[in-house]
Amino acid sequence: MKIAQEKVVSIHYTLKNAEGSVLDSSSGSDPLAYLHGAGNIIPGLESALEGKEAGEKLAVTVEPGQGYGDRDERLVQDVPRAAFKDVQELAPGMQFQAQGPQGTRLVVVTQVAEETVTVDANHPLAGQTLHFEVEVAEVRDATAEELEHGHVHGPGGHHHH
Ligand code: ZN
Repeated sequence: MKIAQEKVVSIHYTLKNAEGSVLDSSSGSDPLAYLHGAGNIIPGLESALEGKEAGEKLAVTVEPGQGYGDRDERLVQDVPRAAFKDVQELAPGMQFQAQGPQGTRLVVVTQVAEETVTVDANHPLAGQTLHFEVEVAEVRDATAEELEHGHVHGPGGHHHH
C-alpha cells in the first residue's frame, strides 16, 4: 500500500541539524503515527513520503520554508526581570509558558541581565535546515473517525477517554 491522502502512516525517524547533531528520534520507542495529507507533520516531510511503502527508507532534507518557518526576530523580546520574580535561578535555556495575543506560547530565555530578561518565542527549530532519516513502518487506511478528527487514534496517535 502506497502512502497517499487518507492513509495512516507509521514512521521511525531520526532528525539531525546541519551540524549532524541528533535533535529528535523515534529510536527505542513506538514509531510516530500520522494521518497523511492532514498537516499533522511538517510539509517538507509529508510531501517526501508521498507514494512510499512500508519498509522503504529515505533521507529527507527540509528547508525552513517547508519545516518550522524562518526565524522572526520580532519574537525576541526584552521583558522586565520583575516578571520572573518567582523564579529562583533564572538562566539561559530555561523554558516558560507565556500568554500572548495568539494564546499560550513556549518561550526560551536567551539572556539574563540585571534589569531585563531576553526571551525568544520562535519555534526551537525555526530557521533550521532539517535532515531526516526515515523508515516507513506501516501504511494502512484511516478509519472514518480518524478522518473526521484529522488525526490518528491508537498506538502512536491520540487517545480519547
Ligand atoms: Zn480523535
